[in-house]
Amino acid sequence: MQIPFDNSYAALPDAFYTRLTPTPVKTPHLLAFNTDLAKLLGIKVGDLQEAAQVFAGNATPANAAPLAQLYAGHQFGNWNPQLGDGRAILLGEVIGTDGTRRDIQLKGSGPTPYSRMGDGRAWLGPVLREYLVSEAMYAFGIPTTRALAAVSTGESIWREQGGLPGAVLTRVASSHLRVGTFQIFAARGEIENLKTLTQYAIQRHYPDAKGPMDLLRAVCTAQAALIPAWMAVGFIHGVMNTDNASIAGETIDYGPCAFMDAFAQTRVFSSIDQTGRYAYGNQPNIAVWNMAQLATALIAQMEDRDAAVEEATAIIHAMPDQIEANWLTRFAAKIGISTPVEEDVKRLEHLLALMQDDGADFTNTFRALGTDAARDQFVNREAFEAWHSAWQARLSTEPDPQALMARSNPAVIPRNHRVEEMIQAAVAGDMAPFERLSRALATPYAETDPDLHRPPTSDEIVPATFCGT
Ligand code: AMP
Ligand code: MG
Repeated sequence: MQIPFDNSYAALPDAFYTRLTPTPVKTPHLLAFNTDLAKLLGIKVGDLQEAAQVFAGNATPANAAPLAQLYAGHQFGNWNPQLGDGRAILLGEVIGTDGTRRDIQLKGSGPTPYSRMGDGRAWLGPVLREYLVSEAMYAFGIPTTRALAAVSTGESIWREQGGLPGAVLTRVASSHLRVGTFQIFAARGEIENLKTLTQYAIQRHYPDAKGPMDLLRAVCTAQAALIPAWMAVGFIHGVMNTDNASIAGETIDYGPCAFMDAFAQTRVFSSIDQTGRYAYGNQPNIAVWNMAQLATALIAQMEDRDAAVEEATAIIHAMPDQIEANWLTRFAAKIGISTPVEEDVKRLEHLLALMQDDGADFTNTFRALGTDAARDQFVNREAFEAWHSAWQARLSTEPDPQALMARSNPAVIPRNHRVEEMIQAAVAGDMAPFERLSRALATPYAETDPDLHRPPTSDEIVPATFCGT
């Protein structure tokens, strides 16, 4: 197998990482491989046995520069002075056929100096969940890391329970630079490293940025676009810690993430999110909070601190309006409005309030708006009819609301009960549900497999997702 590595991170100072190779596993078996993505990356795969060895970490490909990256982060608001890749190893970077540089990283590839109490491993369930959900996000058109391969290891993993099958995910990202990568150097007062990192991030992601404050502005803009895109598909990330906030503005680190069935602003899935910090409707606030942490870290390198604080404050304070504007564009499109006006905010909030009151299914309600199937989502029909008539009148000035709605409302999402069902089947050796879901989610705006549109029955509901990833 040939991977055309072109490594830049490994040329940064030693303080940024630890070089090490993955820990080999017992019996690698390739469970999933993303041929389209491999093509984009310019990877030539010959023998699948060899691919299993490489993507399990048993064979290091030529020209790789394997390393574990250092970073810190705020986890649930609490400062953790050192995290780092505790179970991931960056093999290197490639420049794709589209000219974009991307990281190729193994996740679950064994312990590193940053593993703390962890085993450095991942189990099959979360690996297949990340594979499926990240590829679904890509198909929705939402910035995200992607999945190149999933390999089972033939080894057992211990989480809340023992005997879980081990697996390794190969993740592809625009980069793995996080807010936490900046935070660690700022917190340690390593200003030269902070400056080097800032230059590196600018060059790699925002070449037009003129300095740290421009970088901050660009990352805020990317994050302000990302969160409304999540919300428009009912996505809850679940662990929006600063170490999981990407500088490139991609969705990264699919842990206890989930898509909502019945709509509720306060919806939380992660079993460890006791206070609802990362609830669906709180994600915009958290994105701003995370960017404020990035601002604090970037400012540490500025000569004129007072001026920098003033500029950064203005950038952060502009973010809620940016998020709201992007939210309005996304949600207006979901109801067929291409040029939203201020009044449409109330229209959308009203609809969402009715949906929340009646426990309407988020995906199916938007997809079916304008048909009887949408009406059936509501208990309070009178209130919905009133909303509906006003909406119909509003659409009279829209050129082609149906087409806009059809491409703004996915028919199929990775519903939790399907994901859980897929994981259970995979643990038992049956990959058919994974393949079925993958196939349908590759074209999520088309109705290729209607049975996957069905919300869970009361005994299929998955109330929580667990962090034991
Ligand atoms: P996450 O919640 O997945 O973003 O992980 C937070 C931190 O914990 C990161 O530094 C991870 O590398 C580390 N981590 C998570 N799971 C493990 C594990 N099984 N072994 C070692 N480190 C881990
Ligand atoms: Mg993480």
